This record gives sequence, C-alpha cells and structure tokens, in this order.
Amino acid sequence: MTHIAVLGSTNMDLVAYVAKAPQRGETVTGREFRTIPGGKGANQAVAAAHAGSDVSMIGAVGADAFGSQLRTTLEHSGVDTDHLRTTEGPSGTAHIVVDDEGGNEIVVIPGANGTVDHLAPGDEALIAGADALLLQLEIPLAAVLAGAEAARRHGVRTILTPSPVQSLPPELLASIDLLVPNEHEAAALTGLTDPRDAATALLDQVPEVVVTLGAAGSLYASRGAEPFTVPAPRVTAVDSTGAGDTFVGTLAVALAEGRPMRAALTWASTAASMSVQRPGASSSMPYRSEIDAQAASNTRHTS
Ligand code: ATP
Repeated sequence: MTHIAVLGSTNMDLVAYVAKAPQRGETVTGREFRTIPGGKGANQAVAAAHAGSDVSMIGAVGADAFGSQLRTTLEHSGVDTDHLRTTEGPSGTAHIVVDDEGGNEIVVIPGANGTVDHLAPGDEALIAGADALLLQLEIPLAAVLAGAEAARRHGVRTILTPSPVQSLPPELLASIDLLVPNEHEAAALTGLTDPRDAATALLDQVPEVVVTLGAAGSLYASRGAEPFTVPAPRVTAVDSTGAGDTFVGTLAVALAEGRPMRAALTWASTAASMSVQRPGASSSMPYRSEIDAQAASNTRHTS
C-alpha cells in the first residue's frame, strides 16, 4: 500500500447562493446556504485516499464546531488525522457568494491554517515514511518550505500546487520534484501565457512540471524530453470545484504506485473529469474502483 502525506490547509467553505451578489452597503436575501468542507490540503488528501492510498494529513483545525466537522470529514474518507493539530481559535473559513451567473466572491480567513508555520514534533518522521508529500500555498510559506526540505532530506517525492499563486522563493523550488500549476498559475509564475512556454521556463527551477488545462487536459514537461499533452475525457461539467485537487491527489497515488507519467496523467484526468460531473469538492471525488471502471470504458471508446 502506498502512503501519501499532505501538509496543508483545511477550510470550511460557507457558501451563500444568491440571484445577484450585493453591492457595497446593500443587503440581499439569498436562496440557499451550504457549509462545505474544503481547503486545498484536505481536498487533495481526500482525493488520494479515495484513489486507494493510505493518507496522513498534517495541518491544523480550530477548537470550534467547524474543526470537529473538518476532522470527521477527513476521517470518514479514511485520512489519518493524528498529525492534524487542534489550535485555539477558529478554523479556517472561506466565505463565498455564488450568483446565478456562476460568478463568485470569496473571502478566506486562514484561522487555524495560519498557525501552521512550522513542522511539529513527529511530522518529519511521518514525511520520511511517505512515498510523496503534497504541498499547496494555503498555509504559511515557512511550513511549506520546512516540509519540502524535510521530504528532500529523506528522498521523498514532493509535489507542489502553487495556489493561491505567489512568487516562490528559489530555496523552496530547489526542494520540489513536481510542480502542478493550472494555466493561470503557470502564466503568473513565468509571465508567459502559452502553457508550453511557461512549463519550459519553469524547468529552470524544477525537474518536472504538469500544467493543468481544464477541459483541454494537461501538459507534461521534464528536463531533456519533449513536452506532451494528455487530453481530458470529454464530459459535461456541472461543477469544476476541486477538479485540480482531485487531479493532483490521484496523480500522486499513481506515481507512488510506480506508474509511468503518461499512464498516471491519464488516470488522474479520468478521476478529475468524473469530479467535474458531480457537485461539490471532496464529496465529488471518485473512488478507485469507479476510476478504474471509467478508465476501462474510456479505453474501449477510444480504441
Ligand atoms: P479547480 O480550481 O476548478 O479545482 P484547477 O484550475 O486547479 O481546477 P483545471 O486545469 O481546471 O485545474 O482542472 C484540473 C484537471 O481536471 C484538468 O487537467 C482535467 O484533467 C480535469 N478537468 C477540468 N475541467 C474539466 C472538464 N470540463 N472536462 C474534463 N476534465 C476536466
């Protein structure tokens, strides 16, 4: 069995659905309210667990009701939460207004995620025993760097999703094996709008890059080899939230199992294409048996 460690955020998304978002000073009556467990770290952890790996989550929740709910959601997906600390104060929250045109406004309050600025005792040993460490940028950079360097010391593969995008210190990139930006993040990191050019430029700093391209699939680039794209299965998308996290969590499992990159990307895009056909983020992430069945069906239809 593979083991994936995730160092990152847990958030409760508080989503208000309205016909039209309020202007400054205005009050509107919305249609519906939902609390949806999320955070890029937690989402990637759930995706990897559903894809069939042992997964441990390193991070923090607050000492509030959201914290207990976030922990329970992870545990129900089979994620080990022994390294998920409970800190004083609130859990991380994202306050989201979604209007009828699908536009959204989001305020993120880091809460407990903001306290994850170092590795706690035992975290490095956990990372050392994993096949891969998944990192994102929703916790302080100091912890992302500490995690990446710990993984590097123990020869553990590091996979970084550079979201929310920000300039990345060279010492962090020096400890990253695989960078997985979406096309907007790739452009923001390099100033290059063509994903192929951006991926090639990023190879100056990391040995492997996957740029996700939404419905157009993903682009893989590595030093010394010709870049290639892997198409995404054609599906009808109803909610793309969490597609990127499903993709990364599933990709990490496939790579940990030793699958070649092209096969791993195909499996990950199958999983991500399934998640966009269902509403929600972690609730939409497919299980291994479903991914395998869909992958077999996709192969039958393309051969
Ligand atoms: P999000 O922020 O919505 O979670 P993202 O911007 O991080 O996503 P995307 O590039 O949009 O990442 O999507 C990640 C992967 O999900 C893509 O590489 C693709 O494999 C799959 N995917 C996304 N949207 C679609 C779609 N409409 N149809 C099929 N596959 C999709």
